[in-house]
Amino acid sequence: MPELVEVETTRRDLSKIIIGKKINKVVVSLDKIVYNKKQNFINDVTKKSILDVKRRGKWLLFELDDKYLVIHFRMEGRFYLLKKDAKIEKHDYVVFYFDDFSLHYNDPRLFGKLQTVDKDKILEFFKDKNLGLEYDDKNLTAKYLKEKFKTHHTDIKKMLLDQSFITGIGNIYADEILFESKINPKTYADKISTTKLKEIISNTKNVFERSLKYKGTYPNIDGRRGTFEEHLKVHKRENMPCYECGNIIKKEKVGGRGTYYCPHCQKKRG
Ligand SMILES: [Zn+2]
Repeated sequence: MPELVEVETTRRDLSKIIIGKKINKVVVSLDKIVYNKKQNFINDVTKKSILDVKRRGKWLLFELDDKYLVIHFRMEGRFYLLKKDAKIEKHDYVVFYFDDFSLHYNDPRLFGKLQTVDKDKILEFFKDKNLGLEYDDKNLTAKYLKEKFKTHHTDIKKMLLDQSFITGIGNIYADEILFESKINPKTYADKISTTKLKEIISNTKNVFERSLKYKGTYPNIDGRRGTFEEHLKVHKRENMPCYECGNIIKKEKVGGRGTYYCPHCQKKRG
């Protein structure tokens, strides 16, 4: 599933190419991918310039004149940037044509959605999504997490996966953040010290930035796959030695998710 890093990678890569460019034409070959009425959607984006490319959680937003084109990739949606006359591949359900290239939205699982939202309705659009803070939001502080976690006598791993506290942490990232912070995934969230919460915050940034450097784990707009998986420290490293202490990495279910950790570096406390 494309996670925050994949969406952010797409945003950064597309920003360099499509900002200031005009969508000359859009072809929608499968109506259900588009949330609006198809013809409204086409009218909303045709002949419109892209002013900016933004992201909120796992939503990608193209800023147009008076609307946002909002995209959610869900399970397997992605964008490919190709030449203008490039062949339409199987599962390319929406194609945007610019002066000298085309942007293909491909989605084999059909769970993704594209829709246009009026600019003045965008806050409303995100309101019921219950998204927490972005990893680089300056309001993400130990105090914020302390307040959020104080009524949650439950595993920290589950809390990190809950998108209403910090948005965008998926399973791989939660394992890596907890490893870097030397916190056992089953530590109760309400028992974590301010010092350790600060470590969670700084390691969330570090792990995301490291993954962004390697462009995540999915194919990007040029079709090349990100290589972050080669740089994971615990996730998917069951029975392999810990890079820091040499003990064997363990896997167990925490909050219903396969969880990898080092029993030595991440001892359970409290
Ligand atoms: Zn270790």
